[in-house]
Amino acid sequence: MIVMKFGGTSVQDKAAVRRVIEIVGRETRPRLVVVSALSKVTDGLLEIARLAEQRDAVAAGKAVRALQVRHVELAGVVGAAELRATLLKELDATFAELAAMVGALGVVGEVSARSRDTIVATGEVASSRILAAALEDAGQPSRWLDPRELLVTDGTHGAALPDRAATDARLRANVQPQLEAGRVGVTGGFVGASAEGLTTTLGRGGSDYSAALFGAGLGAQEIQIWTDVDGMLTADPRVVEAPRVVSRLSFDEASELAYFGAKVLHPSTILPAVGSGIPVRILNSHRPEADGTWIARETARDAAGPAAIACKRGLTRIDIASTRMLMAYGFLRRVFEVFERYRTSVDVVTTSEVSVSVTIDDRRSLDAIVGELQAFADVTCEEAMAIVCAVGEALRSDARLATQVLGALEGLPLAMVSQGGSRKNVTVVLRDADVTEAMRRLHRRFFEAGPTTAERTALATA
Ligand code: ADP
Ligand code: ASP
Ligand code: MG
Repeated sequence: MIVMKFGGTSVQDKAAVRRVIEIVGRETRPRLVVVSALSKVTDGLLEIARLAEQRDAVAAGKAVRALQVRHVELAGVVGAAELRATLLKELDATFAELAAMVGALGVVGEVSARSRDTIVATGEVASSRILAAALEDAGQPSRWLDPRELLVTDGTHGAALPDRAATDARLRANVQPQLEAGRVGVTGGFVGASAEGLTTTLGRGGSDYSAALFGAGLGAQEIQIWTDVDGMLTADPRVVEAPRVVSRLSFDEASELAYFGAKVLHPSTILPAVGSGIPVRILNSHRPEADGTWIARETARDAAGPAAIACKRGLTRIDIASTRMLMAYGFLRRVFEVFERYRTSVDVVTTSEVSVSVTIDDRRSLDAIVGELQAFADVTCEEAMAIVCAVGEALRSDARLATQVLGALEGLPLAMVSQGGSRKNVTVVLRDADVTEAMRRLHRRFFEAGPTTAERTALATA
C-alpha cells in the first residue's frame, strides 16, 4: 500500500480537488490519502482563536461563517445529490460545534492550548470529509477516517509527540480493514488525540509528519507528499529566482534541509520513514507527470557538490561566556540544562571551553533563559539573525566544499560557522538582512552553470 499526502494548495478549490481525484484514481495500489486543511484555513482558525481571546465574539463568529461558506462551496464538487446532502450535514455539524466553542471562549476571553487545538483541528476534519465524499462521488469507494482516532499523541497541545505503538495499533484496527475491502482511506493530517481523547496537533506543517507516521505504521511501499512545487528545489523559491529540482536525496540530506528551513517537508517527516526504509517522494499536484524528488536511504546522485541550500530566518543568537573559568568542565552542561528546562531547542552551536554561542527559533522563554544563564555567565543576545546552510553527502568527503561555501560568502559578516555533526552540512549564521544575498551567491556558485552577468561584464572589459 502507499500513503498519498496532499497539502493545502492541492485542495484549495474545486479545480484542485478534481486534480487530486484524478491523481488518486490513477493509482492502483491500496492507498491511504492524508490531506491538509484547505490553503490558509489553519491561519484563519488561529485568527479565530485570537479573536475569541480578545472577546471579539462578533468578529470571531463572522470568521467562522466565512470559513463555513468556503467549505460548503467546495462541497459543490460532489455531484450526487445524496452524497452531497450527507456531506453538507457533516460540515454543518462540524462548523456548528466550532461556532459554539468559539462563542463560549469569546465570553470568557481565554483560549487554552487545548482549546486552540480543538479549534484548529476543524480545518483537517472538514477538508478530509470533503475529499472522502468527492472520491466516492467520482466512483472510487472511499472511507473517511477520523484522524483523532488514528494518531495517538502525548498531551503537548500545539506540538504533540506521537505515540508510535498506540498509533500503529489504531492503524491496524481502523485503516487496514478498509484497504483490504478495496476502499481508499481518507483522513486529515496534523491532527491527533491524546490517550485521554483530547484533540491535539503536531505543529505547523505537521500533515507531512502524519503521512510519514501512517506510512511507517502501515508498512507502506512509499510515502508521497503532493504539493505545489516540482519537488525539493536547490533553494527556497521565495528567496532564489530559479531553483532547480533535486531528483534524488538521501534521508539525511532531506532531514537536514527540512530542519534548516526547506518548508516543503516538515522537519520530522523523514524520521518514521528512515526506521522502516520507506522511500518518500515529493510530487507536484499541478504537474503530476513531473518526476519529483525521490528520497531514500542511498543517493544515486552524482554527488559532486551540495544537494541543495536552505535558510531559516528570524532567529536569535545568544552568546554565553563563563564567568567562572575554573569551573569550565561543568559549564556546557549547565548551559544546556537551562535550554532543556525551558523546552527551547537550539539550532546551531559553536563552543570553546568557556564560551558558547547558540541560535534559537522559539523566543517565548528567552527572558527567563537569559535570567538563569546570567547566574553563571555573561550573556548577550542579537535578534534578526538567520541560518544559511549547504547540505549534501559530498560535504563529508570533499573538504574543499566547505571552503567554497565560505569563499562564496566573502565580505558578508558571518556571526557563526559550523559544520554539522553529521558533516553533511556547512552552516553559517548571519544577519537576516544578508540572507537573500548569501543564498543567491551560494546558488550561483553551486547550481547555476556559466558565468554570471557581473562576471561576463568583467570578462568583456578585461
Ligand atoms: P503544502 O501546503 O503542500 O504542505 P508548503 O507550503 O508547506 O506546501 O510547502 C511547499 C512550499 O515550500 C513551496 O511552495 C515553497 O515555497 C516552499 N519551499 C521552501 N524551500 C523549498 C525547497 N527547498 N524546495 C521546495 N519548496 C520549498
Ligand atoms: N494545516 C496545517 C498547517 O497549515 C498542517 C499542514 O498543512 O501540514 O500548518
Ligand atoms: Mg506543508
